[in-house]
Amino acid sequence: MHKANETVLEINLTSLEHNLRYLRSKIEPSTKLMAVVKAYAYGNDSCEIAKFLESKGVEYFAVAYAYEGVALRKAGITTPILVLHSIPAQFEEIIEFHLEPNLYNKKVLEEFMSLMKHKGIQNYPIHLKFNTGLNRLGFEARDLNYLYDQLGQQNQLNIVSLFSHLAASEDLSVKDFTLKQISKFKDITDRFMNQFGFHPLLHILNTSGILNYADIGQFDMVRSGIGLYGYGNDPDYDQELKPIGTLKSIISQIHTVNEGDSVGYNMGFTATNTTRIGIIPVGHADGIGRHFGKQKGFLTIGSKRAPIIGNVCMDMLMVDLNGIDCEEGDEVIVFGGPVSAEDFAKTGNTISYELITGISQRIKRVIIK
Ligand SMILES: *Cc1c(COP(=O)(O)O)cnc(C)c1O
Repeated sequence: MHKANETVLEINLTSLEHNLRYLRSKIEPSTKLMAVVKAYAYGNDSCEIAKFLESKGVEYFAVAYAYEGVALRKAGITTPILVLHSIPAQFEEIIEFHLEPNLYNKKVLEEFMSLMKHKGIQNYPIHLKFNTGLNRLGFEARDLNYLYDQLGQQNQLNIVSLFSHLAASEDLSVKDFTLKQISKFKDITDRFMNQFGFHPLLHILNTSGILNYADIGQFDMVRSGIGLYGYGNDPDYDQELKPIGTLKSIISQIHTVNEGDSVGYNMGFTATNTTRIGIIPVGHADGIGRHFGKQKGFLTIGSKRAPIIGNVCMDMLMVDLNGIDCEEGDEVIVFGGPVSAEDFAKTGNTISYELITGISQRIKRVIIK
């Protein structure tokens, strides 16, 4: 394996392909897969990830905001792209780059409609989101008549899909809640299809939905983000998936401090004996937050664990090297390999999603094929 000589996030496309194959194995061959590549593909480099997934036949992409879709189009992605959180100020970019907005309330729907009329555009692909219990974005079941009044007899918009989002698909202790969301979605979409007389793509499952509810909830399409990147929100599924990202760094400098000496800002660590400390060029501006400091998190050096000591700084952090045979310039692993991003995230009381999406774009991404 390639040894780091600076801080890098290695992205393994072979693992990505494995995860895609695993997720596909959970659904019918006819069910489409939408790859969620928002937030820079969860920190993994959205253009590289999307190019690879496009070559593997993924049917749809989803981003959160228009500019994320613009970046994909500029990189040459031609697969349809759903903008999950479309905002009227971004409609011009959505149209210019052939992105497909999610219309989730009356205001956004009517503004988009009137822009279509104004521009004389017909048959523009859009998606409608329904709230089934998450209480985030989406129309309500009671809006169906309004939607028919607005959209039943018009040719500006082409309703490509109806979708909803689950609140706790990874948590089987609240299975009843999820089943209720799925049945509510079925009810809303049945009524929609009766009224409108056609069948748009229907989708509600995210990664944990695919893993736990594919039998009843897969409809026409499923959406996966975290699963593609190698995390299953469950130790059993984590075993089947392969994390695609490994965050590596190096030891920039080693000091030996004496009993009573402090290390870092605000004397966040005080040595209780003679301690070798390593300075690592990754900090809270890179996405390794202060919650990992003060011996909560640790880095891996060879097969040893080096606790993060003191307060994490903006551009670097310090580790305790006692008992570890290493020298300046050696590679250290922040996460990836035996300590996954999920394991590392837990030490700072957070989750893989927050950790990996927060890895700053100043860290170089290295694609491994
Ligand atoms: C982020 C997001 C997803 C992806 O969820 P994962 O748990 O990462 O698979 C799916 N759908 C919506 C609406 C989202 O916002």
